[in-house]
Amino acid sequence: MEEKILTPETPENEEPKSDKSKGQELKEKLFYEQKDAFNGLTKEIRDAAQAFCVPYAKFLDNAKTEREAVNEGIKMAEAHGFVPYTFGQPVKAGDKFYINNRGKSLHVFVIGSEPLENGIRISAAHVDSPRLDLKQHPVYEDNGACYLKTHYYGGIKKWQWVTIPLAIHGTVCKNDGTTVDICIGEDDNDPIFYITDILPHLGHEQNGRPMGSAIDGESLNVMVTASPYDDDKADQKYKLNFLAAMYEKYGITERDLMSAEISIVPAMKARDLGLDRALIAAYGHDDRVCAYPMMLATVEAENPVHTLYAIFADKEETGSDGPTGMQGSLMTDVFADLANTMGANINVVRANSKCLSADVNAAFDPKFGGQFEARNSSYINKGVVVTKYTGGGGKGGTNDASAEYVGYIHNLLIREGILFQTGELGRVDAGGGGTVAKFISMKNIDTIDIGVPVLSMHAPYEVVSKYDIYETYRCVKAFNEDI
Ligand code: MN
Ligand code: MN
Repeated sequence: MEEKILTPETPENEEPKSDKSKGQELKEKLFYEQKDAFNGLTKEIRDAAQAFCVPYAKFLDNAKTEREAVNEGIKMAEAHGFVPYTFGQPVKAGDKFYINNRGKSLHVFVIGSEPLENGIRISAAHVDSPRLDLKQHPVYEDNGACYLKTHYYGGIKKWQWVTIPLAIHGTVCKNDGTTVDICIGEDDNDPIFYITDILPHLGHEQNGRPMGSAIDGESLNVMVTASPYDDDKADQKYKLNFLAAMYEKYGITERDLMSAEISIVPAMKARDLGLDRALIAAYGHDDRVCAYPMMLATVEAENPVHTLYAIFADKEETGSDGPTGMQGSLMTDVFADLANTMGANINVVRANSKCLSADVNAAFDPKFGGQFEARNSSYINKGVVVTKYTGGGGKGGTNDASAEYVGYIHNLLIREGILFQTGELGRVDAGGGGTVAKFISMKNIDTIDIGVPVLSMHAPYEVVSKYDIYETYRCVKAFNEDI
């Protein structure tokens, strides 16, 4: 008997059956799958991210204080044709301006071709980072060395700042009316500075203390000189030796230090981390890792439709107070000035404006997984983080972006093929934090937090992913260009 071979026939107009079950297909349709840089970005984009981060690392090395970041930001703006703005001056579409706010914050804007009342596209990031500032009377000597007294700035773990190489950066307004910038410890031939710690052999008492009090704030004294001035008759020769060296190099005296802003920052340079070079370790990623891509995305814009506005903010780490912090009025002063010049209603301008508050988020760290909630944390290499709300406790102190605005941003990122993720800052009640978002949204401007996830945030040497930096750049660019 002949064996009958049955060949399956596919009727016309019917799709070939997939191997997937109904449940599998439904799951594919309904579930959300978070991609990462390796299954969600092309190799071309990952290569572009690697290239993008070469100048970013240089920016970090040149911008360890807000003043230095402002100088670097001005260079970026001037290279793209931006010029200083004067209140009340005439403006027209395509004009590019910047305002150097007291050397400590920078506002950059391009006039769009559409009416100002359609709103301004704002992006803001801060350029101050946790550090140690010198006190007004910093210099003293003790048992054969000269030290500088400091007062820490921003949220630091004090024990992280001992036994690491440190550099001195700052600005001194001298009593003769001139100003001098100081930077020692960054050139490979420079000396570095240092805060000592007790040796473990004698650290039993310290080891018994909670970590938060292991190093006292008043012991963060920086060793700067350990040899005496060569003169038998003078006293305080160690202090004299330091001041003599500073006078020789910068022409400054102890009295000048009373009117100075001098910061002690880690002397380490930005370096690629890991054999695959996916990550960068550096001081001050928070928040220059958002400031750099945000500024670049704005200064590169040529003849934009929207008026674009980018801010390097100061004082975020201490509450955004003062004229250079985001609680200051400069941004809305400029908006009012532009509205006045261009015949627009400032209230309408603000109501139709949109803002990206670009700041870092905490990247999930499996070593400390207990402090995070894994389903709602941001991760390195999973793209720019869109953070609906920050704050602490029951969302205290947050700008909570509306569902409409979050939806707008998500749809924009999906449409542009930009890798993004969401993330809360840690598990509920683990702590919390805030950004400048709330200060901008209070001006009747829709604002959302976006940014780069960071490992070891606020440590002297922080870690980020190059792919997340690049996706943050693409996010700001898409936001600026979206009609
Ligand atoms: Mn920050
Ligand atoms: Mn911070």
